[in-house]
Amino acid sequence: PGVPTSLLPSVPHRSPGEEREGAVADRETRLRVVLRVRPLTCTETRRGDRQVVHSLGNGTVHVSAARHEATFGFSAVFDAGASQEAVFEGSGVRQLVELAMDGFSCTVFAFGQTGSGKTYTLMGPLTQVHEKQPAAPGLLGLMQRSFSCLLEQSRSRGSDLALSASYLEIYNEQVRDLLSPGPPCALPLRWSKTRGFYVENQLNVDFESMEAITELLLQEPTTSSLAGSQRRRTSAHALNRHSSRSHALLTIHICSRAVSTHPAPKQGTLCFVDLAGSERVKETGSSGELSVEANNINRSLLALGHCISLLAKPRGKRTHIPYRDSKLTRLLARSLGGSGITLMVACISPSSRCLPETLSTLHYASRARRVTTKPMANRMSPEKLLKTLEEEIQALQLENLSLRQQLCLPRLPMRSTEVPGTPPRVGAWPGWGCRHGPAGLHRPPLEGHPLEEGAPAWPSLYGLLRDFVVENEQLR
Ligand code: ADP
Ligand code: MG
Repeated sequence: PGVPTSLLPSVPHRSPGEEREGAVADRETRLRVVLRVRPLTCTETRRGDRQVVHSLGNGTVHVSAARHEATFGFSAVFDAGASQEAVFEGSGVRQLVELAMDGFSCTVFAFGQTGSGKTYTLMGPLTQVHEKQPAAPGLLGLMQRSFSCLLEQSRSRGSDLALSASYLEIYNEQVRDLLSPGPPCALPLRWSKTRGFYVENQLNVDFESMEAITELLLQEPTTSSLAGSQRRRTSAHALNRHSSRSHALLTIHICSRAVSTHPAPKQGTLCFVDLAGSERVKETGSSGELSVEANNINRSLLALGHCISLLAKPRGKRTHIPYRDSKLTRLLARSLGGSGITLMVACISPSSRCLPETLSTLHYASRARRVTTKPMANRMSPEKLLKTLEEEIQALQLENLSLRQQLCLPRLPMRSTEVPGTPPRVGAWPGWGCRHGPAGLHRPPLEGHPLEEGAPAWPSLYGLLRDFVVENEQLR
């Protein structure tokens, strides 16, 4: 994130989280840009492609071809020999995970031409993703490594964090939910003063284990016909059989479950963006529907490049940033120019045949190094906390009512205290996300539980919520 923890000043008598927060909060932080050069593929070697990109060490690479000699510098360069683990440890993703746990909005986005290694870097080899082969631990990508780091840290902090995930794709300028069952449908992208750009009605799914989050991403879950990555729009064409035709955004939401209201609970996010490659229509032989896709991909990447160019200017000289030009730039607005912390992993092929795209990626990535954000940890305002609790309770109340109907039980709610042998489980705190119905769905006010304004509302709301959770578990 431009601020590896080892470089942060150490302040005595503060927790590591407070130290990290104090060191980055409200300070201009540069986008951290690292470069990964993949090895030549068998096909490239067989047809005699030359290697035109060479790592010089110390974060620099040199491109040497007939009419091009150029050197580029990045925060780190990983060459063909770099392992997945080396990329995870050297790119700063571990620090991003920690900052997300401290309430920051952190984003990792992989950028580069189709076939340059974006998906490999984020998720590991495609055979693991598409053919459901068991993942070789050494080949796991940045995402799985981050999840395991997150779960480990969460456990070591006494499990006071609620984790949930959402997974979206932007395909042909439509935002689609990759987790919701049934055929993909477009979700509206809205803007509000408090939330910035957000996707309405997106599904958030709670998870507490590596198996659960991996299942969401890669495997066929029991409840929906196809999960995450398998639902992503891909189509075969000349460059890459599995080439992804959509931008995919997986976001992990991290909420502190601390019951105290002072300081207000933190809400961090860790978002992984696998961008579709920028295809030149001529080269990929795309026509018809594919060419529409390619044009939409190019358009949104162009909008992203345009925003990056404008954001790369010093803050005082910046003009209006046209985030609204594409869905992609709207969703990345906070990561790029706002209060987030961002890592860009630029991926390139070393082959002479990819030279024009490689140079374009290197220029794009160099420009991105000048972009700065002003990170700010997200704390839930008391109003929002109250609203969230109310929504959570209302959703549970409706769900419990429907469960009672299915079980032919009386409508009257039974409190946990009335169910013999059911100790209240404080640890069984529901995530904010998963039981939220669609935002904007009108729900009736809570029957028999007027939620009055005023200071003593918290304990009773938390108590009420816990009762509904216990009741829900009993009914299920
Ligand atoms: P992209 O997502 O950018 O289109 P992929 O991640 O699908 O590209 O990679 C294209 C091909 O190159 C795949 O077959 C992948 O397994 C291989 N590949 C990419 N990066 C590496 C690497 N670092 N080591 C070995 N193989 C790689
Ligand atoms: Mg890909």
